[in-house]
Amino acid sequence: MMVRDQIKGRGITDSAVIRAMSRVPRHLFVPEKYREAAYSDQPLPIGYRQTISQPYIVAYMTESLQLSEQDRVLEIGTGSGYQTAVLAEIVLKVFTIEIIPGLAHRARELFAVLKYENIVCRIGDGNSGWPEEAPFDAIIVTAAAPEVPPQLIDQLKIGGRLIIPVGNFFQQLRLLIKTADGVRKIRKIPVRFVPLKETQATKN
Ligand code: SAH
Repeated sequence: MMVRDQIKGRGITDSAVIRAMSRVPRHLFVPEKYREAAYSDQPLPIGYRQTISQPYIVAYMTESLQLSEQDRVLEIGTGSGYQTAVLAEIVLKVFTIEIIPGLAHRARELFAVLKYENIVCRIGDGNSGWPEEAPFDAIIVTAAAPEVPPQLIDQLKIGGRLIIPVGNFFQQLRLLIKTADGVRKIRKIPVRFVPLKETQATKN
């Protein structure tokens, strides 16, 4: 139902994305009191004033990254871990960073229960990326930033793709593709995400 109406029905065609969205049990990533709404067409609260993204947006962002099986992907904003799991169904390895320890711990437990052995979750500020594991084939940021954090662009391979919501109240998804001589920027759909937190160290 969710996949038919919200994913395929709205123009998502990448078969790997459709397969991943059919496999990941979204209800397990949603707090118990919202379980009945887990497959409905909306974001839902996950505690700590954060949200699990709407299924369509997860599919849309994942498809935009044009992933292949051998890719190594960095995600900023683990949250519930749902987007992480969708990525882990498609690619070789997912590195994910979450700034709220309680959310990171919950997501890690769920990854273990669901036997996702290709996910590594770190607690920290995603603005500086994960330099030890760079470069990445793709980077996805699931919280909105006023501008694209430059360190994330640095950590992309040539040919690598980065998707991120940019803006404050009004936000737009931006797709960046790193080429040999620069970065191609493509404006995508308007969205509404929680803000990407900035720690003192990154503000300076
Ligand atoms: N993909 C997640 C979306 C969670 S909402 C899901 O579908 O469940 C965005 C998440 O980004 C929140 O969990 C929030 O705590 C986290 N976040 C915000 N600022 C961050 C930062 N600077 N570094 C890492 N994670 C951050």
